[in-house]
Amino acid sequence: MKNNSFNNCLCEYCTNMEMKVTAINKETQGRRNALGILNRYELSKKTVCLKPEGERFYRRDCINRNCSKCGVKKLQEEIRKALRGKAQIEWNRWESQTYKDTKTGKKKLRKMLRLKRESVYVFLRELYEEVETFSSHLHNAMWQYQQFNTLIHEIPMNWVVFCMDFSENYTCLYQDEAQSAHWSHDQATSFFIVAYYRCPEHNEIMHESLMFVSDDKHHDSHGVHHYVTEANKHLTEKLHLTIEREIHFSDGAASQFKSKTPFADVANSSTDYGFPCEKHFFGSRHGKGPCDGEFGVVKRTVSQAVVARQALIRNVKEFHDFAKAKLSKPNDDKDTECSDHKLRTFFYVPQTEVTRQRSDRINAKQIPGTRKLHAVKPCSEDILRVATRALSCFCIHCRGSQTESTCQSVDHVDDWESQEIQKRQAKSTKGTDNSRSKNKTTRAKSSKGTDNSLYNRVALLTNHLSKPCKFTK
Ligand SMILES: [Zn+2]
Ligand SMILES: [Zn+2]
Ligand SMILES: [Zn+2]
Ligand SMILES: [Zn+2]
Repeated sequence: MKNNSFNNCLCEYCTNMEMKVTAINKETQGRRNALGILNRYELSKKTVCLKPEGERFYRRDCINRNCSKCGVKKLQEEIRKALRGKAQIEWNRWESQTYKDTKTGKKKLRKMLRLKRESVYVFLRELYEEVETFSSHLHNAMWQYQQFNTLIHEIPMNWVVFCMDFSENYTCLYQDEAQSAHWSHDQATSFFIVAYYRCPEHNEIMHESLMFVSDDKHHDSHGVHHYVTEANKHLTEKLHLTIEREIHFSDGAASQFKSKTPFADVANSSTDYGFPCEKHFFGSRHGKGPCDGEFGVVKRTVSQAVVARQALIRNVKEFHDFAKAKLSKPNDDKDTECSDHKLRTFFYVPQTEVTRQRSDRINAKQIPGTRKLHAVKPCSEDILRVATRALSCFCIHCRGSQTESTCQSVDHVDDWESQEIQKRQAKSTKGTDNSRSKNKTTRAKSSKGTDNSLYNRVALLTNHLSKPCKFTK
């Protein structure tokens, strides 16, 4: 994934901003005070101070609107001049709309592109409101992508980096129906993990695509946990990799990667796998490039074979079998795993294998401000807490090197912060709850109630109330 193609990946927020830029340019074309901004990056640039010399990123205060010298006000004056005398303006905007599902009769939400024609006042009010957080949106997306990109090119030995995502469902297509474009309803879930690690023999960076095909239709955190577990089994048991630290990169979809259950999985990762797993998130609504590329390859190959009547794909299993036979790498006897250090491995996962009754994980507590976090890692020895960070950093210090005593990104990133993810306290039935503390973050840990969940039992065992969180390095 090149920086360029990443920048071209437009999220809804970016798309809406881009369409506003187009609208302003159209309205002011040929005017003396025309704004003449090319794109959303230039629009954002007008609201911040110049980058410090030699720096790749804007100052944090400017991005977060804490700088007295810049801000949306910098842009306002120029736009006002450019649009002077205009009463109305037309622009396109993606908006959520409710509609009635004709099959189920239920009300649903969908994104619709709307053409709006309103007064300049309404347009500007909407623009200024969106621009307020837009610079940090762009900054976070670029920062996170840069961290990911640097890490996969300099990955330390015994580390594994996963970039993961669900793909749109592949609908199995019968060849006889291909012409008339009839689609069967037997849908396959595809989950991709692109894994990066060092080949122990040659020290080269290995790229392995792990594709999970399942008839399980839930795209949720339980599915993710299952696929990750299978991936780790494959890497440690089949490829005999030693893993000391595993980094997961994904988008910030709450139901799949970025909420209390996935965070509980992070906290428990050493128990689950024998090594710590961290979750890092691409900027909200950005990311997942390598996975999209891989899914494109598989989907194209299967669809072409079906249309050319070279393959009969009637169900999810057949979809998996065909893709596996055709696209696995290494794929013939001459090929070895180290031929070009690129592997592609397929897994078929029957729905029945995915466990959703995981009481120790689903009862976790939501961390306040989850939306703004971009990194979560386990606290060693304490499965009731995780450490979080607003942005990721993989500088030498943050990779665990002793040669640097502090993080080299302190200008942009705060230190890790310990957060409680323990199960919310069920009301004590014995009335002898003595665990209450004035400190909100250490409250709610009594196990004297009727609840005998793993969390509470472990809380007693580790007596973590008095224990500071030790981060894994
Ligand atoms: Zn965006
Ligand atoms: Zn500034
Ligand atoms: Zn090798
Ligand atoms: Zn750092």
